[in-house]
Amino acid sequence: MTLNKEERLKLEKDGLDVLHDIHRYAEAGFEAIDPGDFVRFKWYGIYQQKPKTDPYFMMRVKIPGGMLTYEQSVVVAELGNKFGRGLVDVTTRQAIQYHWLQIQDMPEIFERLSTVGMSPIQACGDVVRNVISSPVAGLDAKELFDVRDLVFAVEQKFLSNREYSNLPRKFKISIAADPRDLGHPEINDLALVPARYGEEVGFHILVGGGLSAKPHMAQNLGIFVRPEEALEVIEGVVKVYRDHGYREKRNHARIKFLVADWGAEKFRDKLEAVLGKAYLRGGERVQEDWNGAYLYGVHKQKQAGLNFVGLSLPVGRISGDILLEFARVAKQYGNGDLRTTNTQNIIIPNIPDENVAALLDEPIIQQFTAKPPTFVGHAVSCTGNEFCNLALVETKARMKGIAEYLDTAFPDFPTPIRLHVNGCPNQCGQQAIADIGLAGALVRRDGKMVDAFDVSIGGGLGRDAKFNRKIALKVPGDRVHHTIESIVRHYIDHRLESETFREY
Ligand code: SF4
Repeated sequence: MTLNKEERLKLEKDGLDVLHDIHRYAEAGFEAIDPGDFVRFKWYGIYQQKPKTDPYFMMRVKIPGGMLTYEQSVVVAELGNKFGRGLVDVTTRQAIQYHWLQIQDMPEIFERLSTVGMSPIQACGDVVRNVISSPVAGLDAKELFDVRDLVFAVEQKFLSNREYSNLPRKFKISIAADPRDLGHPEINDLALVPARYGEEVGFHILVGGGLSAKPHMAQNLGIFVRPEEALEVIEGVVKVYRDHGYREKRNHARIKFLVADWGAEKFRDKLEAVLGKAYLRGGERVQEDWNGAYLYGVHKQKQAGLNFVGLSLPVGRISGDILLEFARVAKQYGNGDLRTTNTQNIIIPNIPDENVAALLDEPIIQQFTAKPPTFVGHAVSCTGNEFCNLALVETKARMKGIAEYLDTAFPDFPTPIRLHVNGCPNQCGQQAIADIGLAGALVRRDGKMVDAFDVSIGGGLGRDAKFNRKIALKVPGDRVHHTIESIVRHYIDHRLESETFREY
């Protein structure tokens, strides 16, 4: 088998083994870093920031299921302020991302995160990444059962586990027991979704989803897994992928390609052979309409007398100071917990009925509102060329500007239209599942290359999950808001009464 460059690097030295080198480089400085170790830094959540010649890094920090305690939020915010020029981005996998870090900052960042049980370990790299869940797991009256312990157990199972520290590529898991698919199951390498088998509740297992340049929807293995069997099944799926996933070409190494080649039945047979056990066939997936994981406003929790409040963080960017303020109000009016969402927003849970009004009156909640304008409230963006070395175009400011323009053009717009942007053919901004998706490109204008976007429409998950389709190519960035405006106007003029954008 011909191994690609990254596979050879991993065989020379495991990604997890770069930790002592990070500490060594923190003493010796940026210039001392071995080029191969830049690749291995990902196992500790560290990426080189653009341009690679500058001594700055991005770092992702995992937040399993998006669940943050007060103490964790404070540390995350203070580190962003101290080392990251104040920036704290919320990602589409419920993690946070810092920018502007330097190699000498890393030991203190690792140390302070560990004091609150957090870590960037395996936030990136060819490993099991941050496990996502419904942003309201354990709170949602609609969920079949509470998956929080399972989310943490999976995190612990794979954390710094050398049996699984060299997978063919990254591995993304979603675990949720809510019927609205708030964990975006179909676009994960492995997803556990709620199911019933007679009177029993448990999971169906989906494998082989993923976005990037060639998006695939995950396939249902057709087995019913009891909650107490879930961890062994998850480990089994990762083992099958580790041992059978493709390692020749990086862009053909995700589990989606293996599942597409094998089919769900063969994958299930292999999984059962690895685990030495057969699982119940059938059962029924429990699924309602997908809401895109937008949870704005005040909602009753399943715990009597408590509420969660969904707030908008436009394109997922806040500062450490803002996060500190969220932590303060969460503590003052609730129990201090916060939740990050896979739509780059934030939720304050556990607010007693009698505290809701006072919380909503706080200036921070007026600013990052529970009732955002439609387009700003449904806009998602990847990092873009401000920091990302793979980006072709700028994304966050562009998307914020487009959404604000549309909110002015269409005030009080009744139906949410989800806008997503990626800065390159990768899909960190998940544009393939957007109602209107933008994928960054470059186009020549007056002899110069300028930002442009391919425009796609009609994506979404849930019962009729499908990826969007391209309808316009390389629209210059300074005109793309007009293109979207025309699409929205066409929808308004031609839709049937109460027809959603997705149905249109
Ligand atoms: Fe970078 Fe592309 Fe991911 Fe955006 S989608 S963060 S440009 S790799």
